[in-house]
Amino acid sequence: MLRRTLAVLASLLVGAATLVAVPTEAQAAPNFKAPFPCGQRWTYSHHSAEVRRALDFVRADGGTTNNTPVLASAAGVATRYSQPSGAGNYIAIDHGGGWKTYYFHLNAYSVPSGAQVAQGQQIGLTGSTGNSSGPHIHYEQLLNGVGQNIVINGQGLAYPGSYNQYFLTSDNGCGGGGGTPFMTWGSGIRVRSDARLAAPVVATLPGPTQVFVLCQKQGDTVTAEGYTNNWWSKLRDQNGFITNIYINHPAAQLPGVPIC
Ligand SMILES: [Zn+2]
Repeated sequence: MLRRTLAVLASLLVGAATLVAVPTEAQAAPNFKAPFPCGQRWTYSHHSAEVRRALDFVRADGGTTNNTPVLASAAGVATRYSQPSGAGNYIAIDHGGGWKTYYFHLNAYSVPSGAQVAQGQQIGLTGSTGNSSGPHIHYEQLLNGVGQNIVINGQGLAYPGSYNQYFLTSDNGCGGGGGTPFMTWGSGIRVRSDARLAAPVVATLPGPTQVFVLCQKQGDTVTAEGYTNNWWSKLRDQNGFITNIYINHPAAQLPGVPIC
């Protein structure tokens, strides 16, 4: 009887170990995109007194923040909430796998509670409802109810204490043909009309910038920052080339990017 009891206990323990192991495996995050429309450039900041790991976004491209569409940063099921003393009108999207995103202070909702929404679908209008000092999108990514450091297109965002230090250009809802998003690094990076050092400068990237690489080709060999590389990327929005040295990716030739 004892031997049999031990055998049963052992099998229960094995079963319990298996059951425990499954939910603790990390769930891959969705490929979250910016919560505002394609091509728009916004700046963001984090208040030290803020709930969780939120970032607040306002437009930095000359457009008006108030009533700009708020977009689902990944597909999921949307739920409306209202908290007049705090988050105001807000939407939470359940992406599955324990992942949720929050969008606070909406002027209006664009989808009913329980709606299945696509990535890039408008879910509301930016506003200042609830406890808010002005129109902005208060945005959060949560895993199992715990606020996470925000990641957009696979890149972790900074947590500056004020606006106009860091910027994010949206590729959400852009449709096809938008190029592959990468971040640049360094400052004062020159974008040239061709993959040659003598080609005219058509734009300058002041600091780390989200860019969309349409294609890449070999050109002049560049040595900078301890790297030497002759691959250059063609940037969609700047309509010119930068050396791949300043694309924030370890490979000299970027994976998944076609040859020009
Ligand atoms: Zn906030």
